[in-house]
Order: sequence, then structure tokens, then C-alpha cells
Amino acid sequence: MERYVKMEEISDGKRYHSNEMAKLGCNDCEGCSECCHNVGESIILDPWDIYMLETNLSCGFEELLGKYLELKVYQGIILPHLLLDEKEGCHFLNKEGRCQIHSFRPGFCRLFPLGRIYENNSFSYFLQTKECKKERRTKVKISKWLGIPKLVSYEKYICQWHYLLKEIQERIGQMDEQALKKWNMYLLQSFFVVPYEAGDFYEQFEKRYKEAKIQIEKIVESV
Ligand code: SF4
Ligand code: SF4
Repeated sequence: MERYVKMEEISDGKRYHSNEMAKLGCNDCEGCSECCHNVGESIILDPWDIYMLETNLSCGFEELLGKYLELKVYQGIILPHLLLDEKEGCHFLNKEGRCQIHSFRPGFCRLFPLGRIYENNSFSYFLQTKECKKERRTKVKISKWLGIPKLVSYEKYICQWHYLLKEIQERIGQMDEQALKKWNMYLLQSFFVVPYEAGDFYEQFEKRYKEAKIQIEKIVESV
């Protein structure tokens, strides 16, 4: 979810790399589930999130839909979002207020209360200082906080995905309704519905990404 706000209003004004420390430690959220109850408008999921859910819950994309996910349009693009209950918050929260999918929770949840600033085909992290309710947070290395294996590959993938969506959003004006529908179907099918095989997610994503870059040219040209 993109936000257009002044950095100095929401952060400590610094930009971080994943090998740096930031004031993130909240004692494993002990006694608090605030941000899983009040998650804001929506949590948009990306292909890695879906791969992790499918692999760990042993189910396909269609089984996840309706139970844990819903499809919603975000800036013209249909993407999976976490299904959220207005009163109860996230469906993955148990009665004790703990995340039931902690080890394979989505990237957005891992990131919180960090955010990303995208610039020049890259990104850096920033710390949202008003989001986490715990006081006296301790310094933690960002890579440890995220807990994502192969973080360099993950960060490259995150960038590619972000800028691919950006490119599509910028081209929406060139597409008529039919072309946009066709592109949305292609995106959903290619990156979410067709399952990723066991093995390296990033290699499989790279192939789909390269194909998508070719396809977007074709779809726009055919309008
Ligand atoms: S998936 Fe887990 S961490 Fe993320 S909002 Fe739901 S309960 Fe919270
Ligand atoms: S507000 Fe902070 S302490 Fe509470 S659940 Fe969220 S990250 Fe954890």
C-alpha cells in the first residue's frame, strides 16, 4: 500500500539498509496484537506471500480465496489482499492474540513498523515511529527483524514486483477496458493462480517476470 506523506511526520527521518540496526524490538509483541486488529484499509499480498501460504498450508490459490484472501482492485490492478474482519482483525489471529502463521507471515507483517521508500529502481527502509504501541523499543538488525532467508534475492524480487506494478499502473491510461481486463487476468494467472513448484521461488518468479515484461508490450500494442 503506497502512502504519500512527509517522511519527517511519520519517521525518524533516516533511511536504513537491511544490515543496519533500528529501534524495532518490542519483546515479541508480548501482550499486544494491536496492529493485527487494526490493520488499516488492507494488506496487499505479493507472489512470495502466496507462495509461502500455499507451501506451508499445503493448499492452492483458489482454496486460499474466500477463506483467508480476497481479490480487490488497487490502483486499477486486481491483487490478493488478506481477508480482514472489521471487529476481529486478521483471520490468522488466534484467541490469544497471536499470529498462527508467524513463521510464514506475509512480507508486510514482517516489515512492520518499517516501511520502504522506492527510488531509482531500488529501495531503502524507514522506521515509522508512531505505529508500534510499545514504548522503549530495543535496537535490532533489520535483516534479523525481517527473518527472510536469501534476503538479497528477496529484496531484488520486491523491487522487480514493485516496479512491474508501477509500469502497469502508468500504462493503464493507454489501455481500454478490454486490454486492462486481459492484463489483469494475465497477471493473476501468471503470478498467483499457476502454482510455484517446490524449489527456488526466485528463479521461478524471474521467468514469469521476464515473460510479463514481454506480454505488457504486446497487450499495449494490440490496443
Ligand atoms: S498474518 Fe499474522 S502478523 Fe499478519 S496481520 Fe495477520 S495475524 Fe498479524
Ligand atoms: S503494535 Fe507493536 S507490539 Fe503491538 S502487535 Fe504491533 S508490532 Fe507488536
